[in-house]
Amino acid sequence: MAKIQVMSDLLANKIAAGEVVERPASVVKELVENALDAGATEIDIELQQGGLELIRISDNGSGIEPNDVPTAFERHATSKIRDDKDLFRIATLGFRGEALPSISAVSRVEIKTRTEDSAAGTFLRIEGGKVLDTGVTAAKKGTELIVRDLFFNTPARLKYLKSIQTELGHTTDYIERMALARPDVAFRFFHNDRMLVQTSGDGKLLHAVAAVYGREIVKQMVAVEWQNYDYRITGLTGYPELNRANRSHCTFFVNGRYIRSYQLFNAVQAAYHTRLPINRYPVCVLHLELDPSLVDVNVHPTKLEVRFSEEKDVFASMQAAIQSALQTETFIPKALPSI
Ligand code: ADP
Ligand code: MG
Repeated sequence: MAKIQVMSDLLANKIAAGEVVERPASVVKELVENALDAGATEIDIELQQGGLELIRISDNGSGIEPNDVPTAFERHATSKIRDDKDLFRIATLGFRGEALPSISAVSRVEIKTRTEDSAAGTFLRIEGGKVLDTGVTAAKKGTELIVRDLFFNTPARLKYLKSIQTELGHTTDYIERMALARPDVAFRFFHNDRMLVQTSGDGKLLHAVAAVYGREIVKQMVAVEWQNYDYRITGLTGYPELNRANRSHCTFFVNGRYIRSYQLFNAVQAAYHTRLPINRYPVCVLHLELDPSLVDVNVHPTKLEVRFSEEKDVFASMQAAIQSALQTETFIPKALPSI
């Protein structure tokens, strides 16, 4: 027998899962991104025991055609790109066709899905990469995925997971960021049957920020609304009195994508100038929109940094946007309707 052999799909998926699925939060991320790519406007996320026992995501998106359901769990199977030309105009969050095969390689998955046009829904159960059962079922339009016993067949991975609280924290951070990134989508997030996050999906960032940070915080913030030829900056930033002991209370989205950026944070900080006490930092949620050619979004999905081609302009714009917001007298509380 030859020494070199092509590995089975089952084994390949298990290895790929090591890269795609690190912890419950990465499963949630992949499945929420699939729901958003399917055009969902309502997404429910439910965890039991930090997601170690169960992760359930349901959406009201397009659903999957009956014949496509088993294919969706195959490696490199995607409806999002067809040829290499598509690679340079990706408009979806996913495109690699790796999430479903990877997740189902290391857990017990149940999917229920129905498209607008099909009379009945489809279900499929798959465990450790092996399909157990599939057929017709009653289902509402959209998709529901249940992931149980994550890493049940990869004990080394399972051991690496942290406490329920730590794992829950990772997922909560992610859901809160998505809620702020997509005020047009109604998110509901439950842990052990307790609701932790709920947004209305009415498209107003103000309401999403109030839902995530609380109304009291929002009352201490002003709206940011600034634009020039190249850049548009919108969001909320806190009055100097609303300050924090570390830098982690400013959230930035570039063209709708969450990023980490010292540059942007420093620009915000510079706008506050001496209005903040020493060693205290602002609170903000800001969306920056610009022509995609002016920003290099690292194509690796887990990389959160971006590079701007006109760094100085971006810095100056952000500083100007915050400065002008802090000068306005229109305080948010007056504009804050009942939420
Ligand atoms: P990718 O997102 O990279 O295409 P995935 O493995 O995450 O790969 O999903 C495979 C395919 O299954 C997707 O391309 C999509 O067609 C379908 N799919 C997955 N989740 C959903 C969902 N929630 N709603 C509709 N279709 C979905
Ligand atoms: Mg995907």
